[in-house]
Amino acid sequence: MVNMNDVNNLADDVIAGNIGQVEKNILEACKRAGREPEEVMLIAVSKTMPISSLKKAYECGCRHFGENKVQELVEKYEQMPKDIKWHMIGHLQRNKVKYIIDKVYLIHSVDSLKLAEEISKEAVKKNVTAHILIEVNIAEEESKFGTKRDEAAALIESIAKLPSIKVEGLMTVAPYVENSEENRQYFVSLRQLSVDIMKKNNDNVNMNVLSMGMTGDYEVAIDEGATCVRVGTGIFGERHYNS
Ligand SMILES: *Cc1c(COP(=O)(O)O)cnc(C)c1O
Repeated sequence: MVNMNDVNNLADDVIAGNIGQVEKNILEACKRAGREPEEVMLIAVSKTMPISSLKKAYECGCRHFGENKVQELVEKYEQMPKDIKWHMIGHLQRNKVKYIIDKVYLIHSVDSLKLAEEISKEAVKKNVTAHILIEVNIAEEESKFGTKRDEAAALIESIAKLPSIKVEGLMTVAPYVENSEENRQYFVSLRQLSVDIMKKNNDNVNMNVLSMGMTGDYEVAIDEGATCVRVGTGIFGERHYNS
């Protein structure tokens, strides 16, 4: 049997080199776009990767990690240093909110009022404030989670009334494309939506965070205003899933 820890374990120096390259690309994308590098947060998406790889990324300075499964996030949370900010970037089931509510820095994947209500309820119980993003299915792909673009504002208005929850911005997973330029339209569209929502001036609603851009398209996303890029493969290499 193949040990997934070995399969997913890129040599340490490869990870260090990858992080250096991604950081350099981010700097250059910021320069081209006339933006300050401090405006863009790099999230190392470590799903399926072994702890040894996360530790290497940590040694290279990464403090923001993204996971898409509750159990994996909790396990890694327990094994990694406590100054890490954990990002929940995957579809979140309501019955699992309680396991992560006091462990995550930001939940990127809220796309329904019911999920937000559960997050609010658990946040009240644990006496924390939950910081969330609204996931928008900006390209209206059937396979993707996320609220419809034209339903986002109403959803946010309802969520803003809940206790102990704060909307910080929007997130999207753009389509998988060969040429990242094809996704520019979607990044523009998400940014425009965040500007429109900001104008409504709802209490408890910020539109400071735009989480968009992955390994294949983060430079274009930065060009269009991303404040959070989620990079997995570009740091840790290809993922090999247990199945
Ligand atoms: C896996 C994942 C990523 C990272 O994807 P890469 O293409 O490997 O960079 C980013 N965002 C979400 C929501 C993901 O699930």
